Amino acid sequence: MSILHATTNLDLDDTATGYAYRSTEELKSARLLFQLLRYGALVRMGNNIGALALRLKLPIEGVLRNTLGRLFLGGTDLESTLPTLRRLSSHGVSVMLDYAVEASSHASQQEATLEEYLRMIEFSSKHRDLVSFIAIKLTALAPPLLWEKLSSQAPLSPFLLSAKEAFESRFARLVTAAIRSGVPLMVDAEESWIQSAIDRVIEEYMERNNKDSIFIYTTIQMYRRDRLDYLKALLSRASTYKVGVKLVRGAYVEKERKRAKERNYPDPIQPTKAATDIAYDAALMLCLENIERVGLCIATHNRTSCMKAVQYVLMQGISPSHPHLSFSQLYGMADPLSFGLARAGFRVVKYVPYGPVEKAFPYLARRAEENSSLSDQSGRELRWIKEELARRKRISQS
Ligand SMILES: Cc1cc2nc3c(=O)[nH]c(=O)nc-3n(C[C@H](O)[C@H](O)[C@H](O)COP(=O)(O)OP(=O)(O)OC[C@H]3O[C@@H](n4cnc5c(N)ncnc54)[C@H](O)[C@@H]3O)c2cc1C
Repeated sequence: MSILHATTNLDLDDTATGYAYRSTEELKSARLLFQLLRYGALVRMGNNIGALALRLKLPIEGVLRNTLGRLFLGGTDLESTLPTLRRLSSHGVSVMLDYAVEASSHASQQEATLEEYLRMIEFSSKHRDLVSFIAIKLTALAPPLLWEKLSSQAPLSPFLLSAKEAFESRFARLVTAAIRSGVPLMVDAEESWIQSAIDRVIEEYMERNNKDSIFIYTTIQMYRRDRLDYLKALLSRASTYKVGVKLVRGAYVEKERKRAKERNYPDPIQPTKAATDIAYDAALMLCLENIERVGLCIATHNRTSCMKAVQYVLMQGISPSHPHLSFSQLYGMADPLSFGLARAGFRVVKYVPYGPVEKAFPYLARRAEENSSLSDQSGRELRWIKEELARRKRISQS
């Protein structure tokens, strides 16, 4: 037992705590699924077939809902997430709700997403004990092409000008509703070629609204070479307001590298995983050093980064339940980290996506891909689950 464990009750590998909210049947299904996911070629084929089948309206929805959906989604609509949210809450973990839709170029779809985001706010204000944050995507409220043009400061066509106006009124409505209900918004980070315009909008709204409380959070992807400098600049610009930051490594390594190569511009992504890890931890420390004026959500499944944050917090005498500090992991992943941190008194919010399976399919496909290689993550999930099943078997036999 480490000194940290002895003095803080912190154990990030304790599967009994990590899976206390999961039944043995659920864990057995999860084990089977994670085992299948390790076959990378199978996953890629499955994702292609799944996308095609959904496009052709073939009846595979039930299969997806009972496999990937059951593991990674909190429900198909808001009300159906409640049992999951209550279960997490009874083990000391609250949530960040995410309506799992992807970018959309259609105004009617963007309007529908806005209405759902507003329903999320209402739902969350009714269940403040269960929901801490709402995650939103700006590409679900305005076409990706608009963000791309704005990011490269290209002129806008009449169509994009009206899309911009429509976005501005949608976002203003959303922020007003969130502030009125006291529910903070966390804006997801997206591809580098659309992010600059998203950054500008969020900074403007942070400046206006993050005075006493922090209502608006941006997301910073530390796999980007330029993001540590961006974070430093953001902190120096924010002299009159507080900054909300969800810190992630970044989800689009291959897509970013491929585009940079095809269009012949320098790869924006760190050259190696180790370089991303160093940048992530440097950003983590910078935010923690400024915790009185930074709302920090440490969004990672990386055990080492979590441990570094915990050590810094404890050594500096910062309260683990400091209102500006939270940890977040995706629902269905890294449970021993989430529940281990929560048990030691840290604020943990599981990122819980919900939505109809056909809409959430790209999210599910990403989770499948992420767990498909022989990466640390997929191996670790499986090891934890097997360990917990073995532990439960030993107990039932004794
Ligand atoms: C709560 C939550 C919210 C999230 N929101 C967003 C979001 O808004 N936007 C977004 O883009 N992602 C988001 N993600 C996903 C996140 O960016 C990572 O893809 C994922 O969490 C895996 O990284 P990790 O820190 O958990 O751990 P690890 O498993 O230690 O790291 C894996 C990550 O390292 C990086 N990496 C891997 N190989 C290389 C390489 N060869 N060179 C350089 N870097 C490499 C990649 O970013 C990869 O995802 C979110 C994740 C969580 C948990």
